[in-house]
Amino acid sequence: MGSVKQQRSTKRSDEAQSNAMKRMRLQSGKGAWLRKMKRRLIQFMQGRYGVDQFGRFLFWTTLIFLILSILTRRNGFYVLAFILLIYSYFRMLSRNHIKRSAENQRYLMLTQSVRRKSALWKRGWSQRKTHHIYRCPGCRQKIRVPRGKGRIAITCPKCHKEFIKNS
Ligand SMILES: [Zn+2]
Repeated sequence: MGSVKQQRSTKRSDEAQSNAMKRMRLQSGKGAWLRKMKRRLIQFMQGRYGVDQFGRFLFWTTLIFLILSILTRRNGFYVLAFILLIYSYFRMLSRNHIKRSAENQRYLMLTQSVRRKSALWKRGWSQRKTHHIYRCPGCRQKIRVPRGKGRIAITCPKCHKEFIKNS
């Protein structure tokens, strides 16, 4: 009797073992599949152009058009967003780096003044707590003065006019 029970239990543990092995094989199979997909993705992305400043601009414009299409319920915005999205992907996956970077250069050239202004504005915004910007009463030149120095005489660096301000 005892030996039969033992046989049964060893049989059960054998089954459990083989089940565990099956599970392990399944898991490693999944891992191998993932690795294979990852390798394929890397191969697919090899030599592709990727994202540049123009690409980022296209992405944000796409997003704005999408939001507009939701807010206004106009199909036109949706179509524009869709076209921009396709164009973004086309540029990202392109292998013609020369043409794509030429497009990026053109974009940077066209937006130079806007980008410079926004960079200046950002700097001014981040310094608003430590500095004050005054305009020279003589020539309208902007002058940056540190805050919290009390009453100070400021000399314009451009026209050398002196004026007094509370910093
Ligand atoms: Zn001045």
